[in-house]
Amino acid sequence: MKNIVLFGPPGAGKGTQAVLLKDKYNLVHISTGDVFRFNIKNETELGKLAKSYIDNGDLVPDEVTIDMLKAEVNSNPDAEGFIFDGFPRTESQAISLDAFLNEKNESINGMVALEVPEDLLVERILNRGKTSGRADDQDVEKIKNRFQEYETKTSILKEYYQNQNKYFGIDGVGSIEEITSRLEKVFDNL
Ligand code: AMP
Repeated sequence: MKNIVLFGPPGAGKGTQAVLLKDKYNLVHISTGDVFRFNIKNETELGKLAKSYIDNGDLVPDEVTIDMLKAEVNSNPDAEGFIFDGFPRTESQAISLDAFLNEKNESINGMVALEVPEDLLVERILNRGKTSGRADDQDVEKIKNRFQEYETKTSILKEYYQNQNKYFGIDGVGSIEEITSRLEKVFDNL
């Protein structure tokens, strides 16, 4: 199986690229943000629990997020592999993911990270906010909080995967097509 963590700060283009890459490599795309938003829209218990965290730009607690991720993976038993988009976002999530895959005799092939400077990220998120309807895309304070969460809890995962020789950084500035082809060069070898 090809199990890839698509990594990068909010607004880096993970979702856009994952949708393009999942078809080419026949992988199941799991975006934890999308799963949360689906649950919020459908007013499930999970959605009610996650809503205030997401609206404020805070991370949803690990236990809830990890259980949800496992359920998503388990509901795709025939998958040839996964693109994890927006997960893991904390060290505890990364450790749980490794243990969970290990139980299935699987592992993460690589973390592929989209590297984009912060000023460009804010611009992209505010632009997306015009059409996404996402409260967390429309308010500069909430966007700043998401970066803060990323800096303090998520960015250390670069080191986590580097220590396993699984980190691949990609320049995330350019046209969608340019970035896809940079990603493909890495995906082909994972
Ligand atoms: P995203 O769509 O990836 O930008 O995620 C939107 C929001 O969903 C984040 O700001 C968090 O509130 C929540 N979220 C998504 N993935 C995770 C995760 N792995 N851990 C905790 N919270 C998450």
